[in-house]
Amino acid sequence: MPPGSLHKLSSHTIHYGHVVLDSVGEEVLDEVLLSLLRAPRTYTREDMVEISAHGGPLLLRQIVELLVRRGARHAQPGEFTRRAFLNGRIDLSQAEAVMEVIGARTEIGLKTAMAQLQGRLGSEIQSLSDRILQILVQIEADLDFSEEGLAVLPPGHLRAETLRLQQRLQSLLAGWEEGRILREGLSVAIVGRANVGKSSLMNALLGAERAIVAPSPGTTRDTLEEWINLRGMPVKLIDMAGFRTARDPVEAEGLRRARVAIDQADLLLLVLDMSQPLRAEDGPILEQLKGRKSVVALNKSDLLARLSESMVRQTLPRVPLVLASATEGLGIETLRDTISDQFLQGRQGWGEGAIMASARHKAALDAAVQALDRALTAMDHHLSGEFLAQEFRSALDALGEIIGATSTGDLLDHIFEQFCIGK
Ligand code: GDP
Repeated sequence: MPPGSLHKLSSHTIHYGHVVLDSVGEEVLDEVLLSLLRAPRTYTREDMVEISAHGGPLLLRQIVELLVRRGARHAQPGEFTRRAFLNGRIDLSQAEAVMEVIGARTEIGLKTAMAQLQGRLGSEIQSLSDRILQILVQIEADLDFSEEGLAVLPPGHLRAETLRLQQRLQSLLAGWEEGRILREGLSVAIVGRANVGKSSLMNALLGAERAIVAPSPGTTRDTLEEWINLRGMPVKLIDMAGFRTARDPVEAEGLRRARVAIDQADLLLLVLDMSQPLRAEDGPILEQLKGRKSVVALNKSDLLARLSESMVRQTLPRVPLVLASATEGLGIETLRDTISDQFLQGRQGWGEGAIMASARHKAALDAAVQALDRALTAMDHHLSGEFLAQEFRSALDALGEIIGATSTGDLLDHIFEQFCIGK
């Protein structure tokens, strides 16, 4: 392609050509396709050129180095998305959703991140902000007119409106919690005596042979983690080192990590061997389940039973029990359902209201809820409109941070530095 000819080509077209090392065009680096995208219909709303080359890392590096020698520079992490935000194509919550889309773990997670990329959170925040602004205008008007003895705001009306706004914020916060689970996942620690079939059961739940299963006790020496998808929830299964006294430092370290994982787990899955009676060493393990979200799997149900449900019920009267056989693949689906039921607790359509918001968003939503709380208190104490206005203004500022209406350069740096290069 002769120099300068790019200007003559029309936008949103793809062109075949070669990347050449020198202007004479003798040393061909690669055969490529060039996409030409002119502003404003581009990712950043600026003119863009994309080069599709053959994928080898060495080749790609050579092409990039050549471009840099000719005056281009490497993009900062998240720079394209940052430009899209600064040029007004997307709001800040959409910019952050780009990262969520890339990192999504389950289909629901991806769908939620996509909805946010389409601006779902942003438009809800916008509509809430508009409403608060209207209230502010009414309060200001009320302040002006009340001097003349005219009340613009009917009594009780403001209170009801504020409560409605708070409710909408609360449901966003609930969606935030679901979004957090989609992003970070839940953890299930598999506990139980050595050799009861913890690794086998983990494999059965995973549907693939991943953990090492061995017939002698104490072979699962460390914690082992794998992710599964339970009705859209990403769940991390953690297989614990067998519960025995450690014989060597490696086993001791395994046990230490196991204890930390047990303390932090969202649910404990206790595995018992049905073909054996309970032993003294099971006592402390069963005790651990008390007051925790937990499920008991009665494994090896294919063998002659020497342990009954009622024996377990004596210590754990309310924990769900599931008969299973890891090696025969029995009860595995029931086990998956029982575990997810513990998390869902009867909720239907889990994840539908989820929003992919960051801790920053939650803090802003919390701040807005608190500001409205203070406004309600001010109303109860019949404080003057100026106090009210101040609280509504801080609620508005807090919401502004979510969509980037009131964001500082530092905040933007912090958000975009978490992106990968090229996004
Ligand atoms: P862990 O030490 O608790 O992780 O136990 P493993 O998963 O390593 O299993 C110990 C032994 O029990 C292995 O020989 C498994 O094949 C066997 N096993 C595990 N689950 C079952 C089961 O449901 N039925 C039978 N018959 N054997 C099982």
